[in-house]
Amino acid sequence: MSSASSAEALGLLERFWGYTSLRPLQEEAIDAVLGGRDSLVVLPTGGGKSLCYQLPALLRPGLAVVVSPLISLMKDQVDTLVGNGIAAACYNSAMGEDERASVVAGLREQRYRLLYVSPERLVGTGGERFLAMLQSARVRFLAVDEAHCISQWGHDFRPEYRQLGRARDAFPGASLHAFTATATGRVRRDIIEQLGLRDAVELVGPFDRANLTYRVLPRAGFRRQVDELLARHRGEAGIIYCTSRKEVDGLAASLHDAGHRVRPYHAGLSDDARNRNQDAFLDEDVDLVVATVAFGMGIDRSDVRFVLHAGAPRSLEHYQQESGRAGRDGLEAECVLVYSGADFLRWRMMLENAGEFTDASRTSLRDMERYASGVTCRHRHLVQYFGETYTKERCGACDVCLGELEPVPDAVTVARKVLSCVARVDQRFGASHVAAVLRGKPSEQLSARGHDLLSTFGLLKDASIAEVRGYIEQISVQGYLRPTDDVYPVLRLTQSGLDLLRNPGAGDVQLVRPRQAPKGGGSRRGAERERDGETWQGVDRDLFDRLRALRHEIARARHVPPYVIFHDTTLREMARQRPSSLSDLRHIYGVGERKALELGSQFLAVIQGQE
Ligand code: ADP
Ligand code: ZN
Repeated sequence: MSSASSAEALGLLERFWGYTSLRPLQEEAIDAVLGGRDSLVVLPTGGGKSLCYQLPALLRPGLAVVVSPLISLMKDQVDTLVGNGIAAACYNSAMGEDERASVVAGLREQRYRLLYVSPERLVGTGGERFLAMLQSARVRFLAVDEAHCISQWGHDFRPEYRQLGRARDAFPGASLHAFTATATGRVRRDIIEQLGLRDAVELVGPFDRANLTYRVLPRAGFRRQVDELLARHRGEAGIIYCTSRKEVDGLAASLHDAGHRVRPYHAGLSDDARNRNQDAFLDEDVDLVVATVAFGMGIDRSDVRFVLHAGAPRSLEHYQQESGRAGRDGLEAECVLVYSGADFLRWRMMLENAGEFTDASRTSLRDMERYASGVTCRHRHLVQYFGETYTKERCGACDVCLGELEPVPDAVTVARKVLSCVARVDQRFGASHVAAVLRGKPSEQLSARGHDLLSTFGLLKDASIAEVRGYIEQISVQGYLRPTDDVYPVLRLTQSGLDLLRNPGAGDVQLVRPRQAPKGGGSRRGAERERDGETWQGVDRDLFDRLRALRHEIARARHVPPYVIFHDTTLREMARQRPSSLSDLRHIYGVGERKALELGSQFLAVIQGQE
C-alpha cells in the first residue's frame, strides 16, 4: 500500500472498527483488492478475513459483492457493519418482498458499499436477471467467503460454488477474491482452478491458532471427562460434538438435569426446534450446545471458550474446522478431543457403506488417528499437517507441552499384558471388561465368569481405570487390537497383536498416561493459568459481568446476537481500563465512532456504577 492509502486505511479502521493496526497479511490482502488483482487469502478462523474485503470496499468508490454461503452469517455480518456505521445490505430469499425492493432501489442509487448474497443468487435460476440489475451498481470486486465450499476436498462442498467463476464475467472490470481458513494445497488449487482466478496473489497466513489449548483424552468415564471440562468453564460458552443423535439427546438431557443451560442440536429435530436452539446459543440465552456436526456453519459466536469432541471426526480438516469455532475472539479457549478406537472403525464402516471409502478418505482417517494417538505437540502436529513449519519448541498450550502426559515406561510390556488379557478372555469381551480384569478388583461380574482366576487378573493393578482404558485405546489405534463393530464392541487381536504377543521385539508401542505427581514444582495447569491470568489481568470481573448483562439487553432489543454489539475482548478492556468519558471510551479496542455515539453513555453509566 502506498503510504497515503495506508494512512487512509488506518484512519478508517480506527473510525469504523475502533482498531489500531492491521493483522498479519491483512495489508497485503487489502493491497490486492485495491490493485484489482485476483487473490486467494488463507487465514485461520478469527484471523480477520472479513476486514480484507470490507476495508477496501470503503477505500474506493463502487460496490463490493460478497458471496457468503449462509443466510444467518450474512445477516450477522451486515448487522455488524451497519452497527459500525457502514452502508451494507444483503439480498436473499429469507427477506420479504418490500425489503428486497428497497435493497434493489438502494443498489440503483449506489447507496451501498457492500452487498452480501448467496451463491445461488448469482448463478441459480434468475441469476442472470440479478446480475443484469447489478450492472448499474458499479461492481468493483467480488469476494467469495468460505471459498473451500468449492472443493470436494474441503469439508462443506457446495456445488453452486463451482459456477461462481462465471458470475464475474458479468463484470469485466471487477477482480475476484477468495477467502478460506482451509489451508491444504489441494483445496487451494481447487479454488484457484474452479473460480478461474487469474494470476492470483496467494496469501497464506500463519496457520497456528496460539490462543487454543489442545487436549486429547482416550474415552474413559466419559461423563466425568465432560464434568471436568465444564468445571473449568463455568458459565462460559461451549460446544460439545457427539457422533449420534441419540448421544446428543442423552447428554443434553443429563446436563440439563445437572443444572446447565444447554440445548441439543441435530438433523432429527424440526427446523423450528433447530433454529430456536441455535438462536438461544447465539443470543447467549444458553451456554452450551450438544450437537452433531450438523451444527456449526454459521456459528459466529466469537466467545466460545471450549469445543469438546466426543468422538474423533473423519479427518483433521474436519477437526480443524469444528474445533476452530472456539476462541474466535482471540482469547484463550480449549479444544478437547475424547476418542476411542471404535470411532475409527465406525467411520470406516460408514464410509464403506456409502461407497466413499476411497484412498483419500482412508488417508484422512489415518491422519486423524495419528493425531489422536500421537504424543508430539498438538500445535506442531496440526501446523505441519497443513503444510507449514512450526518453529516454537513448546507451544505452552497443549496437553503434551503442558506436561499433562507422560510416556509409560516399558510400554511394550504393558501392551503385551493387555493383549494377553484379551486372548485369555477368548476375544469375547469389550474394553471395560478387559480393563476390569487387568485392574483385578474382585467383582461378581468377573467371578461369575471365572475371570478372577485368570493369570492376567490384576496384572495392571496399580493403574487407574482411566489409564487402562487409555492404554487399550492407544493400542487399538496403533493397530494391535481391533474392536468389532457391534453395539457392544468386543476386542479382537490383529495380526500385529498376535505377533507382539509371541515376540516382544515385534512392535514398537508407545503409550502415554496422565502425569501423576506434578514434576518440578509447576502445577499441572500452571502454565495455562498464567496465560489466563494475562488476559484477565486487572479486569474487574464483576464489572465485566454487568457489562455483559447490558450487552445482552441491548442485543435483545435490537434483535441481533450480543457479539454484534461488542466482543468480549472489548468488554474486558472496558472492565480493565474503566473509561470515564466518551473520549476515553473511544480508545478502547473495538469501539468505533458510531458505537461510541450510540451506546457509549449506557456503557459508561454501568462502568461508573450508576446502574
Ligand atoms: P475470520 O473471518 O477470518 O474468521 P473475522 O473476520 O470474523 O475472522 O475476524 C475475527 C475478529 O477479529 C473480528 O471480531 C474482527 O473484527 C477482528 N479483527 C479483524 N481484524 C482486526 C484488526 N486488524 N485488529 C483488531 N481486530 C481485528
Ligand atoms: Zn504443544
